Amino acid sequence: SVKWGLIGASTIARQFMIDAIRAQPDGEIAAVMSSSAERATAYARENGIPAAVSNLDALLGSDIDAVYISTTNELHFEQALAAAKAGKHVLCEKPLALTSDDARKMVASAKEAGIVLGTNHHLRNAGAHRAMRDAVAAGRIGNPIAARVFHSVYLPENLQGWRIARPEAGGGVVLDITVHDADTLRFVLGDDPVEVSAFTQSAGMAGSGLEDGAMCVWRFKSGLIAQSHEGFTTRFADTGFEVHGSQGSLIARDVMTQKPAGSVLLRTASGEEQLSFDREDLYARSLRGFHAAVRGEGQPSATGEDGIWSLAAAEAALQSAASGRTVKIDPKL
Ligand code: NDP
Repeated sequence: SVKWGLIGASTIARQFMIDAIRAQPDGEIAAVMSSSAERATAYARENGIPAAVSNLDALLGSDIDAVYISTTNELHFEQALAAAKAGKHVLCEKPLALTSDDARKMVASAKEAGIVLGTNHHLRNAGAHRAMRDAVAAGRIGNPIAARVFHSVYLPENLQGWRIARPEAGGGVVLDITVHDADTLRFVLGDDPVEVSAFTQSAGMAGSGLEDGAMCVWRFKSGLIAQSHEGFTTRFADTGFEVHGSQGSLIARDVMTQKPAGSVLLRTASGEEQLSFDREDLYARSLRGFHAAVRGEGQPSATGEDGIWSLAAAEAALQSAASGRTVKIDPKL
């Protein structure tokens, strides 16, 4: 079995990851760590977790095999390094760190310690995105030419905290959502971005100079160009993902979500077809892959290297928005 310690008494763990761990036949949650002893105790009680601790050494010294890190973004780096050093496998939330330099150090320390490091990019685990990736790889749309990602949402009130108020915690929509879009584009296209040009805005929700909306234009190695739109403030927008090729188009709707939802339409000269795909919970699938990797079978669905890529892409988008220039993306892998 894999005994987990949760680093962070977070919303995402409560809403999705605790259930995803418990959905594994060999998954067990042994302890939760919060920076506040009170919050740790309350969270453990509410979620049926046997132990509550309020410092990292206590957690890493306990009988656990792996940690799931879902603290605010500025804390991931030190916590992941400490966990690797203690020989614990690490499933870390995105962005892996605040800079791709730090993310590279995390990957290096995981290698050195011989532990599995995964990035929790949930969208790779969605049946919709896997169906699109398979269709692209099988040549069903011919040569992919362009992609469009619609991922501007309304940030729920209960999450209108550090994301819109604390730059030092890695707030802002680019580190929150653009990282996912960069990763999903890489996954679906089987291609890597080489440069980005981005505009960001503050449309009334985020303060402290943080952005709550972004539009990015990406160029990929193959020559494909993509656009992505991320936002916190568009209450009535829906989400989507499209890939347009020489022989067909893939048009997915309501797929940039945490739920195994949405539809994928394939349109070619022979007509339209709704692609069918499995509706497995995204986070449970992420955990399933991670547990397999811990057993030495394959890699997590998104590796540490994938986390470096998505962060390098987001970093370049922020640099582009700040400078008004197109910025090269180099994950230095
Ligand atoms: P939360 O704001 O819910 O939790 C982050 C931290 O905030 C917690 O670790 C906790 O600190 C602290 N906190 C929570 N509630 C309170 C409170 N009432 N008072 C004071 N502090 C509190 O963040 P999210 O769960 O939304 O995000 C956490 C991480 O997960 C981020 O890195 C985010 O990017 C990522 N994420 C990923 C998603 C995905 O689908 N892959 C989806 C959502 C988030 P402490 O632990 O010290 O108690």
